Amino acid sequence: MKAIVIHAPKDLRYEEVPDQPLGPDDVRVRVEVGGICGSDLHYFNHGGFGVVKLRHPMVLGHEIAGVIVEAGRDATSLQPGQRVVVNPSMSCGVCDFCRKGLRSHCSDMRFYGSAMRTPHVDGGFRQTLVCKADHAVPIPDALTIGEAAFAEPVAVCLHATARAGSLRGKRVLVSGAGPIGVIAALVARAAAADWVAVVDLVDEPLRRVAALGADETINAAKDPDRLAAHAEGKGTFDVVFEASGSAAATVSALDVVKPLGTVVCIGQGAKPEINMSTIVTKEINMIGAFRFDDEFRMAIDYIARNRAQIQALVTATIPASDPRPAFELAADKTRSVKVHLQF
Ligand code: ZN
Repeated sequence: MKAIVIHAPKDLRYEEVPDQPLGPDDVRVRVEVGGICGSDLHYFNHGGFGVVKLRHPMVLGHEIAGVIVEAGRDATSLQPGQRVVVNPSMSCGVCDFCRKGLRSHCSDMRFYGSAMRTPHVDGGFRQTLVCKADHAVPIPDALTIGEAAFAEPVAVCLHATARAGSLRGKRVLVSGAGPIGVIAALVARAAAADWVAVVDLVDEPLRRVAALGADETINAAKDPDRLAAHAEGKGTFDVVFEASGSAAATVSALDVVKPLGTVVCIGQGAKPEINMSTIVTKEINMIGAFRFDDEFRMAIDYIARNRAQIQALVTATIPASDPRPAFELAADKTRSVKVHLQF
């Protein structure tokens, strides 16, 4: 079986890997679609992010959907031929956090295509993937496999918006118009936010998110005064989703959020120099949002209700056998929102 393996920054190979054994409560999934995510790009471009560093070759990928080809003896709820999207988040179920229902904070978390632990956990960019049956979520008939492959990034955004509390009637800014930023803007819109603005440094993704329903787009590189105007009078946004992972954008979020407002940090890797007085005197809620839990299944319902918008996010579908151009395309946001690999 072939898989997409990252060996080092920019060293991405489509190469033979061993078949995985099928346990009694496992299913074997013929992978059809794999979405390239920002973290896959971090491994491709930099060999990791923050403290997470690639220490040995790893199969990438965690936005995976396909068709079951084999079900283990005890995996009776699923049948060969069934279309499924794979939840890449495998909590242990027995640690203190899991037992308190905080599965996304599992102290023994295994997440597909992640170098957070060593040895790393291989991902799903492979021709077939063996996973636990309860991680293979059936795809409703109304959805294509490609649409269902958005369950993971949509779940990330549903979790981030849940962290912010109700967005109804709120003025929302999303910082960073990559896939997560764009989906966060769509989710905020669907959650009845009164105003959804998106800031980025590049025009093309801003044009796309405007076409999908953002009320305001700001190019902070070309028009810094426009962003600065939002900092006047102690800020104009109730909630800022920081999805760029940029230090400057994180600092700016604190300037444009209103007193008692909320900054939800989704992007990773930035080391901003923050003036704590801004947080203290404006009484800002600065909170993190990482991955998801129950939101994975909720994401499938969200996608079913918003199919046209989700379809519009796929800017290319490329054969997995030639991964490097696909990753380079996905990293270029003047040309891409979401690039899907076809296995
Ligand atoms: Zn656990």
